[in-house]
Amino acid sequence: MGREFLDLVDISTAHKITANLFREIYHPPRIEEVNLSDAYGRVLARDMETPIDLPPFNRASRDGYAVKAEDTFHASEDNPSILKCIEVIEAGSIPQKRIEKGCCSRISTGAPVPEGADAIVMVEYAEEKEDNIIIYKSAYPGQHIALKGSDISKNDIICTKGSILSPEKIGALSAAGISKLPVIAKLKIGILSTGNELIEPSNDWSPGKIFDSNSHSIAAAIKNCGCKPKILGIVKDDYMELYNAIQSSIRECDILITSGGTSAGAGDILRDIIEDIGEVIIHGISIKPGKPTLIGKVDDKLVFGLPGFPVSALIIFNVLLRPYLMELSGKSLDYKYLRELPLAQRLHSSKGRVHYAIVKIEDEKAHPILKDSGAITSLADADGYIKIPKNVEILEEGSMVKIIPFF
Ligand code: AMP
Ligand code: MG
Repeated sequence: MGREFLDLVDISTAHKITANLFREIYHPPRIEEVNLSDAYGRVLARDMETPIDLPPFNRASRDGYAVKAEDTFHASEDNPSILKCIEVIEAGSIPQKRIEKGCCSRISTGAPVPEGADAIVMVEYAEEKEDNIIIYKSAYPGQHIALKGSDISKNDIICTKGSILSPEKIGALSAAGISKLPVIAKLKIGILSTGNELIEPSNDWSPGKIFDSNSHSIAAAIKNCGCKPKILGIVKDDYMELYNAIQSSIRECDILITSGGTSAGAGDILRDIIEDIGEVIIHGISIKPGKPTLIGKVDDKLVFGLPGFPVSALIIFNVLLRPYLMELSGKSLDYKYLRELPLAQRLHSSKGRVHYAIVKIEDEKAHPILKDSGAITSLADADGYIKIPKNVEILEEGSMVKIIPFF
C-alpha cells in the first residue's frame, strides 16, 4: 500500500535536516591507515612530520669532484687548478677520506659529500690526467651541495591534514621514509534497487523487464565522492523481501541507498517498511525531478530512498547526498568544474519548486534536454544539470546558467 506524501518539505529544509543527520551520525569521520601503494586519491587525516632531515646528509647534486672551493679560486681555462684525486664516491656509499688542501674526490650525484669538501665542480669543467684532476672553473663554497636538512628538517610538517594524496604528495611522503598513512576512512554505502521489473544488465533481455541502471550509476557517483559502494542487488516489490533485504543490508554498511518504490503508488512499500523498522524523517521533497524521495533512519544509520527514474535518482544523489559525502570524505566540492554558459533556448519551470534540468553543452551553449525523466538518452547525452530557483517560472534564451556536472 502506498501513501500520500504527508508533509512535502522544500529543498532547503531537506538540506538542513540532512546536514544535521550527517553531523549527528557520521562526524567526526573515522581514520584508517593505508600503505603508500593504496594511498592515491585518499585524504590525509593528520599532519605528517618528517622523521628525518632531508636530505639526510650533505649530498652532491652533480657528477664531478668534491673540492675545497678555495683550491679552485682563480681557476680558469688558461690557468687551471690541479688537484690530486684520492677517492671515488658512488651514490649509496660512504666516503672514507677527508679532503685536505690540494685534494679532491670524484663524486656521483646523490653521494654524500666527504668531510673537508665544500663544493662540487661539475665533471664538464674538469679533466682527468693520470692521478691529477685539472679544474678549469672556480667553484664557490656550497656549490652543487644540498646540505643536510636544507630541504626539510626532521619533525617539520611535510604534508598537512586534509591534503589529497596525489602523486607529488605521495612522492614527498615516501621520500621522507613514511610508509603508512593515516587517511579518512571511506564510508561504506550499500545500494539496493527495487522493482519487479528489474534485471541485471546483460545480453538477455526478457519481455517486460528493465535493466537496473541505478545500482551502477549510483555506485559510480559514490566512488566519485570518496566513498565505497556496495551493490547489494535487486529486490522485488514485496514487503517481506524488501524488509529482510534492508535489515541485513543496514548491518553491512554505514548508509543505505535504495532506488524505486518511493512514490505513493501501489507496490511502493519503502515508506511502510522504514516506518516499521526505523523512522521516516522526510518523504516527499518539493523539487523536480525527485519529489518521491525518502530519508529515514534505521539502527542509527541513514537510509535514502531515491526515486526509481534514473535521471531523478542521480539528480537527487547529487543534490542531496553528494555535498555531505564529499565533506565526510574530506573532499571539497569541485566548483572549478562548474561552467557558466548561455541557455540555448527558453525554458519553462514549475513555480513553487526548485527544478533541476539536465543540459547538453554544444557550441558553448547549454541546451536543455527536454525528455521525460524515464529517458535513458537524457543521461547518455547529458553534460550536467542546472538549478532553476523555485520562484522562477521562465528562463529566457541567453540567460547565463551554471552547469553542474554529474562527475
Ligand atoms: P518507481 O520509482 O519504482 O516507481 O520507478 C519509476 C521508474 O523508474 C519505473 O519506470 C522503473 O522501471 C524505473 N526504475 C526503477 N528502478 C530502476 C533502476 N534501478 N534502474 C532503472 N530504472 C529503474
Ligand atoms: Mg518500482
